[in-house]
Amino acid sequence: MPPLPFVSHSAELNGAMATRRTSTSGSKRMTAPSFTYCPHPERSGAIEPSDEVCSCCNTARGYAYALDIVSDDLPDSFREVCPWCIADGLAASNYGIVFNDPDVLAQRGLAKDIIEGITLRTPSYSSWQTAAWECHCDDACEFHGDLTVEEAHAPDWQAVAEMLNSSVASAQKTWPEYAARYVPADPSIFKFVCRHCQKVTYQIDTP
Ligand SMILES: [Zn+2]
Ligand SMILES: [Zn+2]
Repeated sequence: MPPLPFVSHSAELNGAMATRRTSTSGSKRMTAPSFTYCPHPERSGAIEPSDEVCSCCNTARGYAYALDIVSDDLPDSFREVCPWCIADGLAASNYGIVFNDPDVLAQRGLAKDIIEGITLRTPSYSSWQTAAWECHCDDACEFHGDLTVEEAHAPDWQAVAEMLNSSVASAQKTWPEYAARYVPADPSIFKFVCRHCQKVTYQIDTP
């Protein structure tokens, strides 16, 4: 059995995958795209099931990028881009699509290839604010999506303290009451993990 392209808690997406699994058996489309900085793209809100043909590879791959497309160079015929064409850079090179804002990354002095990895080959994430990718150890961090309820009840305390701009001791007093009422995505608390030292950063997103 080839690996599933995505693993999701969404019944809708799981249903779409079941269809896809039988209809594309044996195809190279069965291999999930690998995003260095977004290991769980199904948690980003950026990839959704779609029957449309990708404007880059001219193939209906079952999934498409769901967030706003930013480019100065989109022809009228452009419809959608699949996650595979994001991962291999085809969407960026063919259509000049930029998936993430490079300014925040540039301000942090990251190397050009890291910045390009995030801006040109990594799906963004659904947020109220402009997605500001977290960085650590001279690299961009992995995006892990919304904090789960389980994680909210057993959080990384240092990350909570930094998010609340308080001490760990103070965070441990105030956070449990919030965690008891926490519903993922209402508001979103995004989790980033450093690829080198595994430091966790939480990023709160409000309208
Ligand atoms: Zn494609
Ligand atoms: Zn680090």
